[in-house]
Amino acid sequence: MTKRAYQICSRCIMDTTDPNITFDGRGRCDYCHNFDESIKPSWRTDERGERELLEIAAKIKKAGEGKDFDCIIGLSGGLDSSFVTYIAKEKMGLRPLLFHVDGGWNTDQAVSNIERLVDGLGLDLFTEVIDWEEMRDFQLACLKAQIADQDLPQDTAFFSTLYKFARKHNIKHIITGSNYSTECCREPEEWGAYPGIDRTLIMDIHAKHGTIPWKTFPIVDVFTYKIYYKYVLGMEVVKPLNLVPYIKSEAETLLGEKFGWQKFQHKHHESRFTRFYEDYWMPRKFGYEKRRAHFSSLIMTGQMTRDQALERISKPEMDEHFLEREFEYVANKLSISVDELRALFDGPNKTFNDYKNKRYWIGVGSSVMRRFGLEKRLFR
Ligand SMILES: [Zn+2]
Repeated sequence: MTKRAYQICSRCIMDTTDPNITFDGRGRCDYCHNFDESIKPSWRTDERGERELLEIAAKIKKAGEGKDFDCIIGLSGGLDSSFVTYIAKEKMGLRPLLFHVDGGWNTDQAVSNIERLVDGLGLDLFTEVIDWEEMRDFQLACLKAQIADQDLPQDTAFFSTLYKFARKHNIKHIITGSNYSTECCREPEEWGAYPGIDRTLIMDIHAKHGTIPWKTFPIVDVFTYKIYYKYVLGMEVVKPLNLVPYIKSEAETLLGEKFGWQKFQHKHHESRFTRFYEDYWMPRKFGYEKRRAHFSSLIMTGQMTRDQALERISKPEMDEHFLEREFEYVANKLSISVDELRALFDGPNKTFNDYKNKRYWIGVGSSVMRRFGLEKRLFR
């Protein structure tokens, strides 16, 4: 097979590091086409969006009558979840329970942002702490598995814990900060964005590389929450940020002025592990820059110019000295030596296809959802 010549989109900065990207005659990529043709026409943040937002709010309030909370919001302290918390309370008039999952990697800034929001909005916060020995074993197993998706343990922990809690307490509405404004360009799964929580994949990684049983670690499979929780239990995921004007810089300013919330240097920097993984491990070991998708979303939605994005991506977010210190911190935190972490870093890269998985069936499920217009972002 001949290697494909390098190409970068003439409008955003997605490029051939996504092996399946395609370009039209003007050099525009299929992510841009998907945004123009599939997302933009149905994305309304004007009075039509507001009307819809208020209708949804009325429905959630009615379903929650007589209960302590009418919905639940997973709060990481990052921008999307913080801003949606503000919208849910102040614009929708909801009574959310804020739910935080502590996987052991919170930055101080994330913790402080959560405290400020909780105090400022007068809401209740419930924090669930993941068993650190199991978390550590899961993370080490993923590192040994050499897959690109090193955020699998944190993502699994955060979403599964939230779903389990909502189910146990019979909370029907889950509010998420998921949005088009900063995430319309979804990174391809080769870059470690595996679509959904796949128990088969996780248990195979555990069988091959785990060293202790993962007894308490929460794992709710993608088909359980997409089918059973949704259609049998009637649980609904609501995405209010697609119905209001959501401009990243304006949201940061608003949260700062109202609550003393502090903005992060970049998306996902609320977790010290994710910051290290996306700024160091992923680009240097696998050659994938998740920021390429983050910035492309901002270009498509008119919040950043292509030149600004090219300038930012030409160097890491954090400086070399900082990243070296973080390398040591991650090794220490996982109770391995810096040399052991270095050996894992230098090991041969693999993909989720080297493990048992349900990727084919997840693909079938998401094509069905796209056909019915339930998913507009490009999954492949
Ligand atoms: Zn593009």
